[in-house]
Amino acid sequence: MPKLRPPATRKTTGARLAAAFGAILALALVSACTAPGAIETDIDDRAEFVDTDDRLNVATTFTILADMARVVGGDRVQVESVTTPGADVHYYEPTAGDLRRVENADLVISNGLGLDDWLLRFIDGTGAQHLVTTDGIEPEPVRSGNSVGRANPHAWMSPTDGATYIRSIADALGEIDPAGAAYYTANADDYIAELEDLAERARASVATIPPERRVLVTCEGAFSYLARDLGLEELYLWPVNSENQGLPRQVTALIDEVRDRDVPALFCESTVSGDAMEQVATESDSRLAGLLYVDSLSAETGPVPTYLDLLDHDLDTITRELTS
Ligand SMILES: [Zn+2]
Repeated sequence: MPKLRPPATRKTTGARLAAAFGAILALALVSACTAPGAIETDIDDRAEFVDTDDRLNVATTFTILADMARVVGGDRVQVESVTTPGADVHYYEPTAGDLRRVENADLVISNGLGLDDWLLRFIDGTGAQHLVTTDGIEPEPVRSGNSVGRANPHAWMSPTDGATYIRSIADALGEIDPAGAAYYTANADDYIAELEDLAERARASVATIPPERRVLVTCEGAFSYLARDLGLEELYLWPVNSENQGLPRQVTALIDEVRDRDVPALFCESTVSGDAMEQVATESDSRLAGLLYVDSLSAETGPVPTYLDLLDHDLDTITRELTS
């Protein structure tokens, strides 16, 4: 079972700030190669935790984990995501406000597997407990490109692994707040039951797709876990964390595959540019069939404000377009 990572020894605020701003500088250099189409989020006017009640303060690295923590924690927790809807969690530049948000949290939740390592220097020296939701998950490897063999971080896209995230969050909250443990477990049970319903419907739809057409073609290789769960083969333009997105040779190779396999529908993610995939679609007589959501929820009024909405949207889009 995944365990909470214990808080590091406390440092002075000055030392923490120095370390954090060192991290910000380093990340600013890295971000020079941020993906085209990635959304910048440099304006941060969100409220910080105000400890006016006895709810637990939970900080997460991205919106999907925040939604999970809100559902599991209910009215016993107050949750903030460091990155906002639409942000690129792979290449995030933390701000001084983020440091304070993490510093004041009782529990910090990150994904791990290299997705949100920018958080680690922020945690060092704070008293916050740290849960890494992919601890205990069997990682799928990145299958090509510079990061080949490294773990693919997008495990939440699997309803099966998503259930593990939810269970780990309930266990972590219950460990910090034992009086709420039964409540968190009951919330997690209901949540996982809904997730299993979604997955069951998607599997039933995939069963109606002719086996040779069970191929999921996307821009980023972010769907390994989902494809595995659904029994779909995964093809993509560029692998995870690649700075080379939609290169001519990647486009040409995919056009050949899509043509050979007669794949009826191609997909792109909401946070990346679909230009290269549009070209693949045109030249292979397929079609770009819709946006999938992976790394971020939408704002409250958008199409996928919750994790269940995101999976429902993607599963529905994929199965509908591959069966039509
Ligand atoms: Zn991603």
